[in-house]
Amino acid sequence: MLNQQAKQVLDPWWEDQHPRPVASYIGVLQIVKRCLQAGYEPDQIRCALDDTLVLTVNGIEFALRKQQSERAKVPDRSHVPPMVGSDAASYCEECGVRGGRHRFDCVSA
Ligand SMILES: [Zn+2]
Repeated sequence: MLNQQAKQVLDPWWEDQHPRPVASYIGVLQIVKRCLQAGYEPDQIRCALDDTLVLTVNGIEFALRKQQSERAKVPDRSHVPPMVGSDAASYCEECGVRGGRHRFDCVSA
């Protein structure tokens, strides 16, 4: 079952590689299985296969964790009014002061 699922993740990616990976297919399949067991989604694993430079547990886990931390870093700006130019760069979201300055009680100052 898990084997089947791992093949569905790996096979299309593997077929797309030119030249083919030098790493062994069975070895990479085992890693994909471990990623699935660990709770990663097939899409995340395919992205990690694309991103990693080495088809090892360490390489793929590095890529998976990097994806996650990049996702976590994307701030939710839906509540912040759009701004342009240098104002945008020097706007403090904590206290709402522009120009690189802060309110006296700003926690990020
Ligand atoms: Zn501030």
